[in-house]
Amino acid sequence: MTVALPPSVDIRGVTRAYPGTLALDSVSLALRSGRITCLLGPSGCGKSSLLRVVAGLEPVDSGEIEGGGRRLSAPGFTVPPEGRNIGLVFQDLALFPHLTVAQNVAFGLDRLDRPARRARVSELLARFKLAHRADAWPHTLSGGEQQRVAIARALAREPAALLLDEPFSGLDGDLKAEVRQVVLSGLRAARAAILIVTHDPEEAMLVADDLALMSAGRLLQSGSPRDCYLNPSSLAAARLLGPANLVTARVEAGIAHSPFGAVTADMPDGPATMMIRPEGLRLAAQGAAVAVADVHFGGAFHEVTVEAEGVTAILRHTGPHVPATGPAHLVMDPDRVRLFPH
Ligand code: ADP
Ligand code: MG
Repeated sequence: MTVALPPSVDIRGVTRAYPGTLALDSVSLALRSGRITCLLGPSGCGKSSLLRVVAGLEPVDSGEIEGGGRRLSAPGFTVPPEGRNIGLVFQDLALFPHLTVAQNVAFGLDRLDRPARRARVSELLARFKLAHRADAWPHTLSGGEQQRVAIARALAREPAALLLDEPFSGLDGDLKAEVRQVVLSGLRAARAAILIVTHDPEEAMLVADDLALMSAGRLLQSGSPRDCYLNPSSLAAARLLGPANLVTARVEAGIAHSPFGAVTADMPDGPATMMIRPEGLRLAAQGAAVAVADVHFGGAFHEVTVEAEGVTAILRHTGPHVPATGPAHLVMDPDRVRLFPH
């Protein structure tokens, strides 16, 4: 029998206003131990504000936050950060420059005796592949190593939850994938509830057990990455997760028709907006008649602009041959298509 544990952190209807800006508008989100939740949203949508109120750096104007069965925040009531057992890793990592890597990680472990402290520090350094850097000074570390030290330091006190603000945004390309992999396996070994903020949809989907989509201070949708991507609750949620073709469709007797294909529609007759993911359209020998208007090399794929009845859409063509411009046919995968009221 599985028992549903109460969430490590329960955010309920939290609102936070700054002069002229409603940074958080009635946000509800549960963080569960042993799970990684990714908070995805564009710059300025309120992600860092949410981390600050959960960490106790700022009060809430309405709503409440509970953690470990205790009330942490409510209007006029804020348990300070040091009383919350919640760790926070900021975008600027703020390592102590005058302490070595091992001393940075050991910081705040005074309550442990010397052998226990040493054991805890070496366990964390090993977990984040930092053992060989134990005696190094922060300024001699790479960006990825600094990142891992900051996270190891935050986990040292075994917080119930750890909040990470855009932890991978300062890293590029290859390094990003590598650091992410080391960080994630280290985080997964902790029992803490993890909240990772990002504005990168691909990263959010790759990393998250649970995904939360945010826009303009509001939580649009939360669920598994697959569910959010395939069944977005709104056009805004759909667009947050990646490119989407938006085409006007015509619903007639339970079928939505568009120049690129038709899908079943649980909607009244009339116009609707058809959202088609680029990978939902595929050039084929037969199918809807279209014109290939434009082809661009995109590395692992060609980005192809197709046109039919004056409507354009973009698809990603993979495979060895380069599509030619001119008349073509395409098929539409209904699993990658969603309808929204017009
Ligand atoms: P994100 O982290 O998603 O980029 P933030 O939480 O930093 O977004 O900011 C959300 C909104 O609140 C923005 O419009 C920002 O300008 C505003 N804001 C954030 N902090 C403050 C503050 N201390 N005072 C006034 N406005 C703020
Ligand atoms: Mg931010």
